Amino acid sequence: MVFIARPRIEFRILIGGVKAHTLTEACAQTVLSTLKDTLSLPKLVKASADPFETLVVTIISQNTADTNTERAFKNLTKHFEITPKALANAKLSEIEECIRIGGLYQNKAKTIQTASKIILEKFGGALKPILSLPVEEARKTLMEMPGVGPKTADVVLLFSEGKPTIPVDTHVNRVSRRLGLAPCEGDYEDVRLSLQSLFKPKDYLSVHLLLISHGRKTCKARNPHCNTCPVNTYCPSKGVTA
Ligand code: SF4
Repeated sequence: MVFIARPRIEFRILIGGVKAHTLTEACAQTVLSTLKDTLSLPKLVKASADPFETLVVTIISQNTADTNTERAFKNLTKHFEITPKALANAKLSEIEECIRIGGLYQNKAKTIQTASKIILEKFGGALKPILSLPVEEARKTLMEMPGVGPKTADVVLLFSEGKPTIPVDTHVNRVSRRLGLAPCEGDYEDVRLSLQSLFKPKDYLSVHLLLISHGRKTCKARNPHCNTCPVNTYCPSKGVTA
């Protein structure tokens, strides 16, 4: 008889006392390197070094496909300089019109303008003073802006400043729970902190992008392609149907 060694999968108590089926750190590292070897990173809608542009794009991208986010942002750049000053002083209806194609445009325009005003009035017109704070303080300050949630704050911090945080979008959330990288039950913070405890800060950006890529290509919300999944050996949810 031949015995095949299975990777060790462990049960442990996670943050907030949530009992979760979680891969060991060693398995998590193998999952990461396998995904690195087999996937190309998703195209970013707009990789900008300017944190305020990143904030605006991320607000527009909420519940919106990449192509429409791109179009809406392009429209906005045709009409306005993407600065807190220009958008704080713009007519709200004009911002709305520019980003209409992005959906939920009235709420998003309001969020963009309110954030612009706060940045202008409280932070001298730049996000830099916020982004230089320690990461948790910076998140808290960004999330105090109406309409800016944890995902938006984490995207700005990670993409613009390389701050050690992992944004959890719908793909990251689903894939990490299925793979046992995060608790099955729990909220945004449970998933983020679980991922951050398993990976090194230098890998946070790759983890975020690769889990998105894997979720789009293979570990789809409905009918994930478990049979061809490159990390199915490590996955406690292999064979899941939805
Ligand atoms: S085995 Fe299935 S559920 Fe697990 S990560 Fe792969 S596609 Fe997703």
